[in-house]
Amino acid sequence: MSSAIVKSADMRPFRTVLLVAACSMTLSAQNRRVPAKSELAPGIFLFATPNYGDVGLDGNSIVVLSSDGVFVFDTNGTPAAAAAVLGEIRKLTDRPVRWIVNSHWHWDHWYGTETYQQAFPDVRIVAHEKTRELMMGPALEFNRPGLETQLPNYLKALEQRAAADPSLKAVLDEDRLFLAQKSRVRHTFPNVTFSDRLTLELGERHIEVLHYERAVTPGDAFAYLPKEKVLLIGDLIVNPVTFALSGYPAEWLRTLERIDRLDVDTIVTGHGPALHDKTLLHTTMDVFRVLLREGKAAKEKGLTADEAKDAIMPGLHDLMVKITADNPARNEAFRQQLVDWYLHRVYDELDGPLTDAIAAIPPR
Ligand SMILES: [Zn+2]
Repeated sequence: MSSAIVKSADMRPFRTVLLVAACSMTLSAQNRRVPAKSELAPGIFLFATPNYGDVGLDGNSIVVLSSDGVFVFDTNGTPAAAAAVLGEIRKLTDRPVRWIVNSHWHWDHWYGTETYQQAFPDVRIVAHEKTRELMMGPALEFNRPGLETQLPNYLKALEQRAAADPSLKAVLDEDRLFLAQKSRVRHTFPNVTFSDRLTLELGERHIEVLHYERAVTPGDAFAYLPKEKVLLIGDLIVNPVTFALSGYPAEWLRTLERIDRLDVDTIVTGHGPALHDKTLLHTTMDVFRVLLREGKAAKEKGLTADEAKDAIMPGLHDLMVKITADNPARNEAFRQQLVDWYLHRVYDELDGPLTDAIAAIPPR
């Protein structure tokens, strides 16, 4: 989740909550713009869905065609967005969607699953066993304040501003559609779980669904297609700025170090364009290493996590610019969503083993 939708400073706290906060309504796909399609390898497509007005970013959805049906990695954040992707799939093949993988519990990667289950009642929906547990309770609770309080309040304020400024009408309509969609999602849970490996032979495709250690969440799943050298990693890293809320710092770095050993030509992150080399992976790992090492030293010196952040940030400048190209909104996302949140978890981890519970967003 990146900061691409920061429009004004005053909505940032709201946006932060909403991004991780999480229908059978008759909305059809044409209510939303068509997702951008890019072909990563023959028959493997990335679909990138536009932002939801100014209140949410959607996750990437990746589609793998085969002679024996379709594999979908991540199912978008709303049924309408998933319907738009499914509309594109129908243009590519008349074969059914047989397998879905949801990479982790964040809403923008699985709230569209109902669309596929309605169209293909036999579809197998895969997630890590811990992700399914989180989806069925803690994730819904985590999303509740955003959905029931923060988003409706934001919409009320935006309605007032739009009454005085008609240029806000389009974004208001998008935001309303988003709230309507998310309020009426029929949560559709995985019906297949795995703990560290699940191998799918789908027509000519060999797909390895893997989990190493806890990383951005307790149950991150990623998919590796060794023949095509394509790796689908959800939010294990994000292009450009990784979103480190409630992560598992040491295990996350070890996960990325193992992933780095895979032979790949293309890496698709949970958001943003596909990567064709490992530069961003390596740079993000370097940031993690600095934060693990210097966070520990700062804590031993008695600094708070916030003081540690101020002390460490100047030394991260070159790595930051490598990731953000010094774009101000991206720099802000780097400071908050990567450095601040990761560092708070480094501190938590030093206090004792981390549980699988979803941690609160650190106060600003
Ligand atoms: Zn995401």
